[in-house]
Amino acid sequence: MKKEQFKKYGYELIDWIADYLENVEQYPVKSTVQPGEIKSQLPASPPAHPEEMDKILEDFKKIILPGITHWQHPGWFAYFPSNNSPASILGELLSAGLGTQGMVWQTSPSATELEEVVMDWLRQMIGLPEDYAGVIQDTASTATLCALLAAREKATAFAVNDSGFSKVLRVYASKEAHSSVEKGVKIAGYGRKNLVYITTDEEFAMIPGELEKAIEEDITAGFQPACVVATVGTTSSGAVDPLKPIGEICKKYNLWLHVDAAYAGTAAMLPEKRWALEGAEYADSLVFNPHKWMLTNFDCSAFFVRNPQVLTRTFEIHPEYLKTGVDAVVKNFRDWGIQLGRRFRALKLWFVIRTYGVEGIKKIIRKHIHLAELFRGELLQDKRFELLAPVYFSLVCFRLNDGRSEEELNALNQRLLEAINSTGKIFLTHTTLNGKFTLRLVVGQRTTEERHIRQALEIIKHKADELLKK
Ligand SMILES: *Cc1c(COP(=O)(O)O)cnc(C)c1O
Repeated sequence: MKKEQFKKYGYELIDWIADYLENVEQYPVKSTVQPGEIKSQLPASPPAHPEEMDKILEDFKKIILPGITHWQHPGWFAYFPSNNSPASILGELLSAGLGTQGMVWQTSPSATELEEVVMDWLRQMIGLPEDYAGVIQDTASTATLCALLAAREKATAFAVNDSGFSKVLRVYASKEAHSSVEKGVKIAGYGRKNLVYITTDEEFAMIPGELEKAIEEDITAGFQPACVVATVGTTSSGAVDPLKPIGEICKKYNLWLHVDAAYAGTAAMLPEKRWALEGAEYADSLVFNPHKWMLTNFDCSAFFVRNPQVLTRTFEIHPEYLKTGVDAVVKNFRDWGIQLGRRFRALKLWFVIRTYGVEGIKKIIRKHIHLAELFRGELLQDKRFELLAPVYFSLVCFRLNDGRSEEELNALNQRLLEAINSTGKIFLTHTTLNGKFTLRLVVGQRTTEERHIRQALEIIKHKADELLKK
């Protein structure tokens, strides 16, 4: 592609993205294509000869766009958000333009040093103590895996890295912990059976007493406890494991404490939500996702560790071809995680934090939390609905309950969810809480306004009317 062409299509695409973001509401939130529909429109083999960009863009609009589920839609209330922002998109574009790869300091000193600086900004923003150092990982899943690997090595004085497992190590997490914990436990070689699920209280938070009991039982049985994963803002219901008592237990038994705050960590920027990370100073590591709820497009996961030496000793490698003269005085982030090559993700984070300012970001988070509270309040005015978990952040868990049997209620609420999503105006997903089919509505899109919440309420109540009339 010639420079003039690159410019032409570059400007065109920026125009398209700007219009897309402004008008994304016109699309159905969730793609309505059938499985295989997109694939069937694409050639099975690659083009042998160059194709025109015009044709590629035309196909993008015709074939690809219908298969897009619009995460940036203001009616996105599903899963957790993965919001972006114009600043973040520009940072990402610049990163692609530079095409730099920051595996070691000298492969782009700015990539490493900017990452150090913006991660320290983030540390301050969520109120972590000064002795935490940060590194950007692709996802919370990867960060949690890194924590599990470092915990494994710390527990065995780096023996597993060297000669493999010689004893059974145990990991503890609440029953409500994210599936990435189980995945990490499997990959890190602990074995799924050695992930001990701790009972939760009526608000779905880990019960510290139960944790201690499980640890004691394991010690008696000859297992070696190694790591506890606590969750701040569980995926199902937004529950918060109490970090302080859990941290005390970890300290007592010398266990690695990893805090998974993938979604809710962002809220800790607000003084009124800082309580959620109370006790985080006990953590050996903590992760939260700017790519979820901090306007930074996927992927960008902030991973903090208290003692980077354990992490780097877990991952370090010293092949001759990667040695540089400055290794003693710089950070080489290749030793802070699994991958060698690293994208320049700090750039988009830098753009986001600078264009919004910390106060600007806080204002948006606060608005989301306010909108979720508004939704909860208005929904509960209608006595047919009930709340199934406390609302701490911007996630509301609810269901329709007209007094029929639990089994029938589950079927009814599943039908309600399908009916709601069939409108294409909003998209919600579900979970189960105590065996109850639960609808989840989470507010986190940059452009979600009160009118979208009112529209959601209207749709949900209207679909409930229809279902109950049948
Ligand atoms: C979303 C989420 C994850 C996984 O996040 P990825 O970045 O997609 O790996 C892990 N834990 C919790 C609590 C989450 O909400």
